[in-house]
Amino acid sequence: MMTKKKPLILRPYHKTSYAYEKLRICKHCRFFTVLWEDKCANCGRQALIPVMQQARIQAKHSMQNERLIALLMTLAAVLFSQTFLQIILSLAGGFLLTGLLWWVQRKTVEPETRRQLDKLLRSSERRIIEGIYMNLTTASAAIKDDEQLGYEILREMATIVRNDRIRLQQIMLLQSFALRKDMDLTLEPLMIEDFEPALAEYIGELAKIKRELIKHQAIRYVLRYEREILEMKNGSRILALVAGAAVRMKTYVDAYPDFILRYVRQMPKDRFLRLYRLVRRHPDQPWNGLRNEVSALYNEKYRWDPEFQNWE
Ligand SMILES: [Zn+2]
Repeated sequence: MMTKKKPLILRPYHKTSYAYEKLRICKHCRFFTVLWEDKCANCGRQALIPVMQQARIQAKHSMQNERLIALLMTLAAVLFSQTFLQIILSLAGGFLLTGLLWWVQRKTVEPETRRQLDKLLRSSERRIIEGIYMNLTTASAAIKDDEQLGYEILREMATIVRNDRIRLQQIMLLQSFALRKDMDLTLEPLMIEDFEPALAEYIGELAKIKRELIKHQAIRYVLRYEREILEMKNGSRILALVAGAAVRMKTYVDAYPDFILRYVRQMPKDRFLRLYRLVRRHPDQPWNGLRNEVSALYNEKYRWDPEFQNWE
């Protein structure tokens, strides 16, 4: 199951439509792709255009309709006019309003395009995922970079379309990369309600390389699914890593002493040292027996360890 992980450089995360601009849609069958193929993989036509362009077309289209309605109203006013003067006034008013509309529209092309893009992406959520998924499964061997791009697009998508399926896809993709400390990683936007082994693994990975991301939400997640995680291959290691990350702040030790107690013996040495120092700094806190266990473990294993001597 453990496949070789690819090194990855995540580009910094911008809350713009940057990644969307790489997303293209087929004008013919509305298939989505993030790759650079000439022809639509779904229908075979050369009809792929960037989603921004599609949004602009839709924006122009809706503006055209608005102008058409204004002109039709002008025409109706002319038809219902009973005197020549009324005709002139209807025409003048109608043209003036249409002109004004056109002028306003020209000023609002950009916001309207954004609105249309939003609408397009929202209504196509399922098809975008299908398209990206197809890109990833069929072409990842051919194009080295696409998983990263796929992840970046999913990350961008997650700012607009919030659902567990996208989160899970992101987690799955992240799990296929070799994660590093200096990457722009996140956890909270990816949290899902249900138990997902991939999310548990990802939390374990972060507990190792980016401890500061392990907060109440992540600790509560592994607590809620502790039994399920223990059934996983690296389950107890994941839990020990999370417990190890939790000891970095007193507030987590205050909140989850039992959890930390259960995994204190599997914690890496540096994390135990951290906990040991914390315990020594707060002599009045029993932490539900955690204090006793820490001192027992210290006596058994680390009593003669020089690192444990100069804890001040
Ligand atoms: Zn197509």
